[in-house]
Amino acid sequence: MKFVLCSASKCSRRLGKIIDIQRLPDLAFETPLFFLHSKGGAIPHITHEVLQMISGKPISIQVPVASTLHSEDAVRDFKKGLAEFIGLAENLIYCTVQDSAAGVASGFNDKSKVSVFTRKGRRELDAERYMNVMEAFCPDMYQVLHDGDTDANSGKKRVTKAVDRTSRFTEVCLQRHKSSEVLQNKAILGVIEGGHNISARETSAKEMRDHPFAGFVIDGLCKQGPETENIQTSDIKEIIEKTLAFLPTDKFRIIHGCWNPEVILDLVDMGIDMFDGSYPFIVTERGAALTFCNQIDSYTDCHSLNTPSKETEEENISECSIYEIDLNNKMYFDDLQPVSKTCSCLTCKEHTRAYIHHLLSAKELLGTVLLMIHNIHHYMEFFQTIRRAIKDDIWEDFHKKFKQNLKK
Ligand SMILES: [Zn+2]
Repeated sequence: MKFVLCSASKCSRRLGKIIDIQRLPDLAFETPLFFLHSKGGAIPHITHEVLQMISGKPISIQVPVASTLHSEDAVRDFKKGLAEFIGLAENLIYCTVQDSAAGVASGFNDKSKVSVFTRKGRRELDAERYMNVMEAFCPDMYQVLHDGDTDANSGKKRVTKAVDRTSRFTEVCLQRHKSSEVLQNKAILGVIEGGHNISARETSAKEMRDHPFAGFVIDGLCKQGPETENIQTSDIKEIIEKTLAFLPTDKFRIIHGCWNPEVILDLVDMGIDMFDGSYPFIVTERGAALTFCNQIDSYTDCHSLNTPSKETEEENISECSIYEIDLNNKMYFDDLQPVSKTCSCLTCKEHTRAYIHHLLSAKELLGTVLLMIHNIHHYMEFFQTIRRAIKDDIWEDFHKKFKQNLKK
């Protein structure tokens, strides 16, 4: 796998491409991109056929070991790798240790093992055991085993342990990667730890940067999970900028977590290339639909910003976050509009807010299915808009107007 930067200036938004993927040599994936969230080897709430209808082309998917470990033996016996086993072979498969949507449970790692919480409870992985799983799964790209159990409140002692442990795990993972027939042509990613401590970040980055990694994960900023949504750019900007300054500019950078759309734009602005798709999943789980303006045409002319109607303004003030509407709310009981009038997804073409509200109230599974279809479609368009804004050289204007629009 190769990462090619198409446009970039040091420490700023970048446009790139992933190419030469061993299993998918004809495909290219443009960055900034996000990896669609999966759980237990499936996209929650939707079938593969529906996924194809939403995406229309191969996409990038994150598969957490935490939710797929129970399939290890079956995948090994299957002998064709995880992508084929889960029926998603036409897509780029990226294995991570933890589930970004569930978050990292605190206090369960030690110097030789990292804990993951599977549906059968806690399982401990040392580096050898983890690499056995990777050899069975044979993903297109994967992280080294790491201790990411840190956040803004972690003390120096804890972040130093995270850096040291990750460094030891990395040695074993790299050794196994290089000698493995099935993995040596796959992409292995270095993981930079160090919490919010700049000196620990520097140590971690310097230890990782000269290894033959395809890219780097900036980990350990938070425990991931739904709480990530409330973290603001000002909480992480300095530590990310300083961490990136220690890393080579020609390798891609990934940050995991359920960051809100404004923070995603700020992270792209700092030079982050890839994210995970836990955000649209978590929004779906609470019965909400994304409604923030995700199309560039609404930002290119400041007079046509997504100005809400009086009715929608009232909704925004009383019932909605600035990014979504809560369809559990009884105010949607007789609202016969689609979730979004400008959305072309299957849900918005065929169904009303009132119907989805009814399904959620009746606890019918179709409610979350329809929401997931809309939220994935909306998030995909958001990333298309991000790429187009960089490509068309209107990023600064777009970024500024996006923030202004949120304050209306
Ligand atoms: Zn829609």
